[in-house]
Amino acid sequence: MYRYSRAIYRDLQPLLMEGQVRPELGQRLLLTACERTVERLARDYRRFARPAASLFADVRSLFPVSRQLLAYDIIEAHMAAALEYLDQEIADRGSADLLRCRATNRKGKACQRVPVTGSDFCPSHRFLEKLQTQRSDAFAA
Ligand SMILES: [Zn+2]
Repeated sequence: MYRYSRAIYRDLQPLLMEGQVRPELGQRLLLTACERTVERLARDYRRFARPAASLFADVRSLFPVSRQLLAYDIIEAHMAAALEYLDQEIADRGSADLLRCRATNRKGKACQRVPVTGSDFCPSHRFLEKLQTQRSDAFAA
């Protein structure tokens, strides 16, 4: 799930207001807002009305007015993708328990551990994420 917050952050970060005294503060606020929104989406997306508008309201002040519409478009596109993924995940797994590690253990059962913040995997399965990222990079190339 966190790959969605990372992707939103990656696309929005270049649009942040420039010339700030503490640019890292804006970056951190943006990342935190993206993670919080995606986490809430993962927990309870059916009761999370208009997640794109909610995230935009949280972060719009970090962007110059001339880039806010673009920022909204980016947020909306990523949220649409995340919602589609959640629908698919529920269809496939029968649950939206997405704050669980995505790996399966040696017995073939779903790992029950909680993912590391910023990852879809728990500490023991984190290496799988690198493989997944490499695969999707290869796919995108
Ligand atoms: Zn795990």
